[in-house]
Amino acid sequence: MNGHLRLEGLTLRYGPRQEPALADVDLDVVAGSSVAILGPSGSGKSTLLRLTAGLEEPTAGTVVLDGVDLSGTAAEKRGMAMVFQRPLLFPHLDVADNVAFADRVRGVSRRAARRRAREFLDLVQLPGFDRRAPRSLSGGQEQRVALARALAAEPRVLLLDEPFSALDTGLREEMYELLDELRLRLAPTVLLVTHDHREADALGDTVAVLDGGRLLQSGPMRRLYTRPVSLAVSRLLGGRNEIAGQVRDGWHHSALGALRVTTPVANGPGVLVVRQEAVQLTAPDAVDADAPGTVVRVRRRGPRALITVEVGERGPVPPARVTAELGPGPALPVGRDVGVLLPVEELAVVAADPDAAMHQATEVVESADDGQR
Ligand code: ADP
Ligand code: MG
Repeated sequence: MNGHLRLEGLTLRYGPRQEPALADVDLDVVAGSSVAILGPSGSGKSTLLRLTAGLEEPTAGTVVLDGVDLSGTAAEKRGMAMVFQRPLLFPHLDVADNVAFADRVRGVSRRAARRRAREFLDLVQLPGFDRRAPRSLSGGQEQRVALARALAAEPRVLLLDEPFSALDTGLREEMYELLDELRLRLAPTVLLVTHDHREADALGDTVAVLDGGRLLQSGPMRRLYTRPVSLAVSRLLGGRNEIAGQVRDGWHHSALGALRVTTPVANGPGVLVVRQEAVQLTAPDAVDADAPGTVVRVRRRGPRALITVEVGERGPVPPARVTAELGPGPALPVGRDVGVLLPVEELAVVAADPDAAMHQATEVVESADDGQR
């Protein structure tokens, strides 16, 4: 009874052409851990959660909880509770009766169920809210009530479908902290989905990247940031740097010069990816700089800034652009000559985008993720 969740080959096909909304997904969520599924809109995130919860039947594959195959087990008998992006509280019940719902269905008396509901309201930091009507609550309060209602059902697995994406920035941070506390006290297994890589990082012990119904890569977020397996993963994580070049015997060659790549990579065309947070800018003639360049664009991000540097062509090799995300410091205006330093342990090389000819890589990077919290 501890909540070890496994998805095995989970697949859902739909429509006359039997297109996959979810294709052959394997996932292991250890009891008490939190896995975040990160994927863009339409990638199959909600489908994955609905199949796990038993709200929909898979075309193939199984959901296994603590060694038991749940195929054919009704949603309400799975020991799972789900929180949606919209809280979906019962408008005609007060807050305590909303939270008490699962107990009431189990046959607990109203009095006892409401008493327990108040404990869960305390837990989500809404003491004294028991008699309030759902419509009198703010968005953040509503979502706390939805969380209390889900937890009161004492689920082995808590499923969260972008539960905080409708909240504004400060409130979202509070909810992250609340979820951390709830995990410390109740240790539920958590499977959550989000389109926001920062949210995935904040809430997941590990992250799995979903695109087009397929899992592309999973692991600790730090590893995904520094070792994305493809351009798609790099972009979904908000990576801004894609430098086309050629790989020869473990070295990547581009306008940035020859850079050593520490992971195994095939000879031939390859795109160097490096997190903007890892790029360092130096004086133009610094001995440790990898290449000299000129600042061509500056974008403010609160106390931080995105500084784009162009490194000129070298003979037949075309120029390259590298963006650094820097904290507070001396201004680096457009036109300033700088050196670009790329720490070797932060570099990865991935296969070129099959559609690369369609659009300039730098343009894609500009639009990939201008969001911020
Ligand atoms: P997400 O939650 O990541 O935005 P969804 O799981 O809601 O994605 O949807 C995955 C894809 O499946 C979408 O492209 C959606 O349009 C498609 N889809 C269309 N019809 C169905 C259906 N009957 N069942 C499941 N998915 C469907
Ligand atoms: Mg969805």
